[in-house]
Amino acid sequence: MAAIYKEYKCKTMLRMHKYVDNWFWESGSVSPYRACEHGCNYCDGRSKKYHASEDFDNIIHVKINSQEILRKELDRLFPKQKTLTDFGMKTEGGIIKVKPVIAISSGISDAYQPAERKYKLTRGILKLFLEYEVPTFVMTKSDLVLRDLDLLKKINDTTWSNVSFSLSCVDKKITAEFEPIAATPKRRLDAMKKIADCGILTGIIFMPVLPYISDSKKQLEETIKASRKKGAKYILAASMTMRDLQAERFYETLKIHYPELVEKYKVLYRKGYEPDGKYLKDLYQKIKILCKENDIQNYIPRYIPDMKLSKNLEVSTMLFLCAYFLSLDGERYRAEAFRRLAQTIEDMDEKIEDIYGQGRLGGIKGIGKNTKELIEEFLETGKCGYLDELRG
Ligand code: SF4
Repeated sequence: MAAIYKEYKCKTMLRMHKYVDNWFWESGSVSPYRACEHGCNYCDGRSKKYHASEDFDNIIHVKINSQEILRKELDRLFPKQKTLTDFGMKTEGGIIKVKPVIAISSGISDAYQPAERKYKLTRGILKLFLEYEVPTFVMTKSDLVLRDLDLLKKINDTTWSNVSFSLSCVDKKITAEFEPIAATPKRRLDAMKKIADCGILTGIIFMPVLPYISDSKKQLEETIKASRKKGAKYILAASMTMRDLQAERFYETLKIHYPELVEKYKVLYRKGYEPDGKYLKDLYQKIKILCKENDIQNYIPRYIPDMKLSKNLEVSTMLFLCAYFLSLDGERYRAEAFRRLAQTIEDMDEKIEDIYGQGRLGGIKGIGKNTKELIEEFLETGKCGYLDELRG
């Protein structure tokens, strides 16, 4: 059945986050559509908590005034100065901070779903991002993104762009069962190659890895190798959640294609919407090893331009990455402590090198003996042994 497009005038577009996202590095996001015609059978976007649509795959809400609203929001976010080099947020000390990375869409609505052919709203957003020099992150399952390569390249030349392709595996049969409308993995990887050839950062959001369906070592390696061959600079992997309507749809699909796995899934997800902790730990360990063996980074590199507070961003990035890997290891409380400290350093107006030089690191809110030592090591050597250990 063809999807119904419900046009409406939105009141807001830009959603700024309280914290930098330490998976994708975005500080905010915009989405021109609600719900997603790709209708992947595992999509978390159809969970109730997102209120995306009354019928996630078939009724797509289209924000027809997205450009007009976003322009006003960007004007407010970046007052007076519009170029990166002029960018304000000046403090009394005259320190200049970096522009935040904004993501177009997220895991709950694809910016390049079929509606985009008709409405070109994502293209309109990219035009604004180019005008306002906004570092841009796009994640998609569609090769329609190639239509906008001209804009992505210009944004990359001016500031930074990162195009991620979301992939659950490269097996044609499995993807046809779970992602019937999205571009085939081959088309996504071919598109990725073209983006990589333009010098734009690109890689794979390897999610969801489907338990017992696409999570064997052989399958993981196949996807990692195929992605690397097509220019992926990173692999960011995660397993699948199972929330209300999402779980309902997934179990329906499972019953059709893999009925023998239904009980195994019930056991795996018995504690809630995430798989059992041991399963997750083992999965991330396998992926770490495979990324290392295949010489590909297991996280997304961050945009850190050469500016007055670059060192602060380097340090906060190191701490955010520790938090990211700790959370994959199931160390949620430690991860949270690292993430808070990272954000504190991110928000500081004073250069961390100066604070360190004056022996005042210990005064930073949330810093402990261990984290102080990690920061000192990083400032002195540019490395963090603990992070290297966590990354595997
Ligand atoms: S493309 Fe992404 S947002 Fe769209 S249905 Fe699939 S997983 Fe969900």
